[in-house]
Amino acid sequence: MKNITNKHITILGAVRSGIAAAKLAHKLNAIPFVSDFSDKMKKIDELDQLGINYELGGHSDKVFDCDFIITSPGVPSNSKILIDAITKGIKVISEIEFASWFCKGNIVAITGSNGKTTTTELCNHTLNTCGLKSYSAGNIGLAFSEITLDVKENEFVVLEVSSFQLDYIDEFKPKYAILLNVTPDHLDRYDNDFNKYAKSKLKINQNQNDDDYFIYNIDDEYLSKIKIENGTKIPFSSSPLNEGVFIDGEMFVMKHGNMIESICRTDSLQIKGEHNLYNAMSVLAVAKLLNLDNEAIQKALASFKGVEHRLELVRTINGINFINDSKATNVDSVWFALRSFKTPIILILGGKDKGNDYSRIKELVSENVKKIYAIGSSADKIFNYFQSIVEVQKADSLEFAVNDAYKIARDGEVVLLSPACASFDMFNNYEHRGYIFKQIVMQL
Ligand code: ADP
Repeated sequence: MKNITNKHITILGAVRSGIAAAKLAHKLNAIPFVSDFSDKMKKIDELDQLGINYELGGHSDKVFDCDFIITSPGVPSNSKILIDAITKGIKVISEIEFASWFCKGNIVAITGSNGKTTTTELCNHTLNTCGLKSYSAGNIGLAFSEITLDVKENEFVVLEVSSFQLDYIDEFKPKYAILLNVTPDHLDRYDNDFNKYAKSKLKINQNQNDDDYFIYNIDDEYLSKIKIENGTKIPFSSSPLNEGVFIDGEMFVMKHGNMIESICRTDSLQIKGEHNLYNAMSVLAVAKLLNLDNEAIQKALASFKGVEHRLELVRTINGINFINDSKATNVDSVWFALRSFKTPIILILGGKDKGNDYSRIKELVSENVKKIYAIGSSADKIFNYFQSIVEVQKADSLEFAVNDAYKIARDGEVVLLSPACASFDMFNNYEHRGYIFKQIVMQL
């Protein structure tokens, strides 16, 4: 555990994780200072109560008056304030790096372009169901800084980690690191350079040694090609492997050293879709490395209900299933959503485009999509791309799209909100978009 007594720490971004880091620093007798560019907030009661100093609506030079800076995921790496700090030789770290300095327990860190939240929750649920004590934190729910001091030596913290958090790690060293997949996302934040983005995901592995495990999807196009430098490698795949977790017929199997074990049937997993089999395999790797009992693992997979806004069945009306997949904010997750249904799909697509390349889903759309409703600021791009393949209608609102989709849908078909885009052009965030979708569906 590092000693930060009397250290001056600047925290950029008065967001949830930033405030949590400031409170942790304060508790550990450091002197935090929070600075946020936005003028949306006028004051922050939580900081006032503790006497923590802060500034809102701009960054002053006080930012640089510190031993190191903790930056928030929302601050782009090309922002002036970060460039200036780095030029001045000030160390910049992320909040998970900071919180990890004080964690006595075992860290399971999960990253990837898609499936982080689902896998984090499934892993946490599995460890707890199998009798261990585990917390989930990171990008979801609680910030790591909020719980790091609570996690005891033999306990676990399962962390959802974004590439922005990984960009600023230094010593962060998870006992178990899971890399689910690397497909284009957030390229706008990485100069449209896929390799830059992929490299930041791989940083999850940079400090691991042979006592740590790097669990990764070897069926992923990018991950299958690269050389992995650190940690004991545990791949997972939908076809048999000599080492790792895989699917053999109806069973999840793990081979590791001399151990070969049939863990449980794949249909034990309640959440649907091929992508969730992958998410589950990464969790099974952790569970078996911990030697957990197969029957308890099977119960955990069977009792996990999934996470809201991820292929969530909202309602079935006249045999038409309305599915909320608002969290599908990139093309790859839509690809998996489209593969999850055998019956015709009416797809609601669109929002704020992040440089999407729709060729990935072209074939699936032509096979199984009956009509697309294009919403939000990317409606024109979607219309132009898909109009020669399938009927596309631009819709001014989500409400119109859902109501019209209901009119044309037939028994057994699916109305799927899986937008492939961020939500900020029409909604506060993807949760808001999902709630509005559910509200509209409940009113049908
Ligand atoms: P993240 O936290 O990485 O955004 P989520 O678990 O919230 O991931 O899921 C985001 C979207 O990706 C959802 O639409 C979900 O159905 C889909 N998804 C989940 N797991 C995977 C996976 N392994 N590969 C591709 N898509 C996935």
